[in-house]
Amino acid sequence: ATPRPGVGLDALPLRENLRGKSAYGAPQLEVPVQLNTNENPHPPSAALVADIAAAVAEAAADLNRYPDRDAVELRTDLAAYLTRQTGVEVDVDMVWAANGSNEILQQLLQAFGGPGRSAMGFVPSYSMHPILAAGTDTEWIPVDRGADLAIDVEAALAAIAEHRPDVVFLTTPNNPTGHVIELDDLRRLIDSAPGIVVVDEAYAEFSPSPSACTLLADYPAKLVVSRTMSKAFAFAGGRLGYFAADPSFVEAVLLVRLPYHLSVIAQAAAGAALRHTEETLASVALLAEERKRVTAGLEALGYEVLPSEANFVLYGPFVDAPGTWQRYLDAGVLIRDVGIPGRLRATIGLEGENDRLLQVSAELAGTEI
Ligand code: PMP
Repeated sequence: ATPRPGVGLDALPLRENLRGKSAYGAPQLEVPVQLNTNENPHPPSAALVADIAAAVAEAAADLNRYPDRDAVELRTDLAAYLTRQTGVEVDVDMVWAANGSNEILQQLLQAFGGPGRSAMGFVPSYSMHPILAAGTDTEWIPVDRGADLAIDVEAALAAIAEHRPDVVFLTTPNNPTGHVIELDDLRRLIDSAPGIVVVDEAYAEFSPSPSACTLLADYPAKLVVSRTMSKAFAFAGGRLGYFAADPSFVEAVLLVRLPYHLSVIAQAAAGAALRHTEETLASVALLAEERKRVTAGLEALGYEVLPSEANFVLYGPFVDAPGTWQRYLDAGVLIRDVGIPGRLRATIGLEGENDRLLQVSAELAGTEI
């Protein structure tokens, strides 16, 4: 059936600040090599799939009941994981969980942003930050990174002083560049922020740099560290994000979260996935090695690759990045055009997928791109 065209957005009484905006739009295409949404390419092991199935079956017996509204068991497991991973003592009352870190960030903006308030980010960075700001009617203040696309700390401090944003987003490692922010720089930025600072650490496990969790005790009324199981944990489809912060931040998001937001199924599946942490995170080390290999391979072909501590690389230059993106796609390799002139982002995949990326890159390197 042909889809009905609808009356068009202009015919609807849409909120003024949403007019003319675009929805989040990573293309979802069936292609042999998918390197466009920074997932972990290693699927869960058979043992992990079996454990998730068993945990979900057990949980299903109680599906007539609402889930634990506060997901205490899962948050306890997440706190134990964070304590192990960061070396910082994190208790259950400092951890909050939601459906992906997107929902975590949205809840933080619902509580700390909103009409009359502002959020600042250092762009290019994660494209959902401004979309979540728009959805919560929070004024978005984008500040350009330096010419090398790393955060320009002096410019950032000046922008914070000038605009005094209620929320500052700092993404480390940054998507789409892969850069990390040094702890000393983080301190200076947090010191200067008049409101809260959300450090988005979606890719933390791929990086050897210390977590912002090490600063939590110093900035209890300011700092929130956001994490996700979508990347390193190979759990993007499970939708589980979380934050670590002073317990008062948990109290704050309780005011805006929807009751029973995390389903019984999601809580059970995430708990099972966390019991396989060691096995899953072993793939992170492999991906870091592959990132080095892909970087070296691209550089050998004459591309410039930004230094990345995440599971993706941003590279170029291309005369026509959208055109080049299409040529990769025609060759069966889906990467990402994040809208940065002359550059494209490729997620690190399995060895064979990376080989294919390098092969197509070699073919294209000899042409007008
Ligand atoms: N933060 C960053 C920096 C990301 O790149 C992503 C995913 N692309 C997210 C947050 C959100 O991921 P999720 O909602 O799956 O946790």
